[in-house]
Amino acid sequence: MQNDPQSHGLWEMTAPPLPPCPPLVGAAQAEVAIVGAGYTGMSAALTLAEAGVSVRLIEAVEPGYGGAGRNVGLVNAGMWVMPEAVIEGLGPLYGNRVLDLLGNAPAEVWARVAKHAIPCEANLVGTLHCANDAKGLAELAERERQWLARGAPVQLLSRQQTAERVGSTAYHGALLDLRAGTIQPLAYARGLAKAALAAGAHIHGQSPVTGIEPGANGWRVTTPQGHVTATWVIMAGDAYAHGPFAELRGRQVHLPYFNFATRPLTAAQRGAILPGGQGAWDTKEILSSYRFDALGRLIFGSVGALKGAGATVHEGWSRRALARLFPSLKSVEFEAHWFGQIGMTENNLPGFHQLDRNIVAISGYNGRGIGPGTVFGRCLAEHVMGQRPADDMPLPAINPHERSLRALREAYYEQGATIAHLVGDRL
Ligand SMILES: Cc1cc2nc3c(=O)[nH]c(=O)nc-3n(C[C@H](O)[C@H](O)[C@H](O)COP(=O)(O)OP(=O)(O)OC[C@H]3O[C@@H](n4cnc5c(N)ncnc54)[C@H](O)[C@@H]3O)c2cc1C
Repeated sequence: MQNDPQSHGLWEMTAPPLPPCPPLVGAAQAEVAIVGAGYTGMSAALTLAEAGVSVRLIEAVEPGYGGAGRNVGLVNAGMWVMPEAVIEGLGPLYGNRVLDLLGNAPAEVWARVAKHAIPCEANLVGTLHCANDAKGLAELAERERQWLARGAPVQLLSRQQTAERVGSTAYHGALLDLRAGTIQPLAYARGLAKAALAAGAHIHGQSPVTGIEPGANGWRVTTPQGHVTATWVIMAGDAYAHGPFAELRGRQVHLPYFNFATRPLTAAQRGAILPGGQGAWDTKEILSSYRFDALGRLIFGSVGALKGAGATVHEGWSRRALARLFPSLKSVEFEAHWFGQIGMTENNLPGFHQLDRNIVAISGYNGRGIGPGTVFGRCLAEHVMGQRPADDMPLPAINPHERSLRALREAYYEQGATIAHLVGDRL
């Protein structure tokens, strides 16, 4: 369905079908219950099932319903926060650990895709972070310096090299990151679901978890039609979390982000746009992103929600911005559009939470969840299997606390983006 928050736009149109995931009905048992079937929950379920642990993954709607089925599909290395700031914020022990893990996160995604033969348009050709101005270029030069110091294959491109890679003269330069690439995000999510089922996990769709209470034999995880009794519970709802442990939602400010997908471009329209197939985004505060899918549709996105006045404003701005960047796309037709919410945290980093005895979560990916969700899901699984004690986790355990002025900040993001796009890119 178009222009409906339930919609997953292009990804729903082109992803392989979802394997059957019947609702949870009646009483069931498992060593581990996982709440939420995005990348975090499914990576954890797959790791556990492959190790022979009995696991039930309980999903409110269907696997990939949340951010996993709506994102841009940029498989990035690291987080937004620059490496030295990560070390400053988390200290050298956790900082270096998380940077090593997340610098390698795309490799873990590519390995999962290869091992389970997941058909998800995986395109390991790097990404381009493009500088809109001199300030953006200085920021990218600093990013390059910090990642090169860690041995990462990143390269700052000149204005001319960037114009050749992007097919637009709009930028002062770009950072090419060869660890990264693009995927069809919902297809990757459904592939993880299929692999987890094949490994022996149970996945229940249409089963919102409404309560988690202590019982005689472990935690009782309740849905409208049934319950699971489990020794461990992993909460993996991220920006789509609802139900128990409302503090997980309260820790995040939701940032809306939309995408429009063109029809497959003709050779004349495509011209010299992204000849290497990299995914790209820019250094603006209200940033834009674009990438191709396997059939040559350009997917163009930015901050904002496609609802109310925002629907028309963001579409009009997207047309103007595309025409400015790539004049051959002046009258291009859009085939699909969708939007979702990104969970932003105060320090722009995810958090590891021990919510109760044997109940754990990692959430707050700040718009970088494909690689990190895959890696952290595995780490959560290793933790519940006793292979990774709490102090060997990638992040220090912290208590989730409600962000101040959360509703106001969310309104500011949504309305600020609408106002910026209302006036932006007019001649
Ligand atoms: C528009 C957009 C663009 C993005 N672009 C990128 C990108 O290019 N690259 C990148 O790396 N990241 C991107 N992200 C972020 C990325 O999608 C998320 O960080 C990632 O999906 C988080 O994975 P997750 O498994 O933790 O949560 P999700 O994928 O959000 O899954 C959580 C699941 O939990 C379920 N759930 C919640 N509460 C309950 C409950 N009570 N009972 C049962 N189920 C429940 C939800 O229905 C949902 O399916 C983007 C996000 C959005 C929205």
